[in-house]
Amino acid sequence: MKNISSENLSAAQHSLIEAAIAATDTAYVPYSGYHVGAAVLTRSGSVFAASNVENVAYGPTVCAERMAIGKANASGARDIVAIAISSRSDKFEKTKIACGPCGSCRQVIYEMSQVSGYNIDVIGSTIDKSNIAVSTIEDLLPLRKKTYASVNLISSEKLNSDQHSLIEAAIDATDTAYNPYSGYHVGAAVLTRSGSVFAASNVENAAYGSTICAEQMAIGKANASGARDIVAIAISTRSDDQEKNEITSDPCGTCRQAIYEMAQVSECNIEVIMSDKNKRNVIVKSIEQLLPYAFGPSQLHIDVVKGNL
Ligand SMILES: [Zn+2]
Ligand SMILES: [Zn+2]
Repeated sequence: MKNISSENLSAAQHSLIEAAIAATDTAYVPYSGYHVGAAVLTRSGSVFAASNVENVAYGPTVCAERMAIGKANASGARDIVAIAISSRSDKFEKTKIACGPCGSCRQVIYEMSQVSGYNIDVIGSTIDKSNIAVSTIEDLLPLRKKTYASVNLISSEKLNSDQHSLIEAAIDATDTAYNPYSGYHVGAAVLTRSGSVFAASNVENAAYGSTICAEQMAIGKANASGARDIVAIAISTRSDDQEKNEITSDPCGTCRQAIYEMAQVSECNIEVIMSDKNKRNVIVKSIEQLLPYAFGPSQLHIDVVKGNL
């Protein structure tokens, strides 16, 4: 995200930020005390603002960005060209930096960018507009829009033995996927600092939103075994539709967010290894490359390392 001075904003960007700041007042945040406001701008100039709505079972919490997109969609507006986000906390002084949306929101903003055909501008602003940063959704969710020409594929011979066995574990795990709706098999395997490997697959649900990706399942499996010092994760996918089998998939925004959280716990910029089932198209990136300007525990002033096992 590039910092820009307030004078360089257009009138439309100014009012979008104002709408996001005003929306922070409507946040329902009894648990975190962290108010987020978001406002989307459509091509025709309409603005839809909303705030975060938390839930006692933390998982059903919906971020302001997704609420604003839902509000626009429910009003028949899907041609989104920009989104502004602002936040403040009841628990500490105003946030000094404008950080990016969480991975799940990036995933949803990206989907809408495919609908509107526009690389949506993402504008983060502190509540007093002293720090304003702008980016685009494609920059905030690298690799989503990829062509093999644009990524550095690693030849299989260049992988070390840990990377090889991690990919193998991920490929094997694709066989256990529960995917009656998509027919899309995803396997993920995490490697801990001590060399343990935990593999899992995606588990879908008739209520699509309750689907859990393989990456999160593998992290959960490691965590349930007392292992949080993750240093690498391998992901492999295959589809029942043979034509899609050559595609090397990258983790969705929500999984990037989950991996980023664990990277804070293990204090390791987790290596993300993406491979097709034949290990022909392998891409290796770090989680910080896949989720730049991430929203993490430090934004909530929480030290997760102290809670490390
Ligand atoms: Zn979010
Ligand atoms: Zn995912």
